Amino acid sequence: MQNEVIDIPDFKQAEKIELHELNLTSPLQTVRLLMDKFKIKHIDAKYIVTHINKVYGHCNRCSYHSLDEEYIKYPKCGALNFNWKTK
Ligand SMILES: [Zn+2]
Repeated sequence: MQNEVIDIPDFKQAEKIELHELNLTSPLQTVRLLMDKFKIKHIDAKYIVTHINKVYGHCNRCSYHSLDEEYIKYPKCGALNFNWKTK
């Protein structure tokens, strides 16, 4: 998937779940996993981690909680959301 900042790898569903779960407990470890397993540059890994939604549908920046696309920029606050359905 292409956006204006980085190329986002096509993560498999199992990988999305793994990254999402790990990010809930340790964003630092998630950055490391992205770098080690997916060969993503440090700056890009940090970018991805800060944009993975903690709860499906909930914008990672504001209080909006009805996001319904997987990769969506919520126009009101401008945040890019990795809105992965992990359940
Ligand atoms: Zn928002």
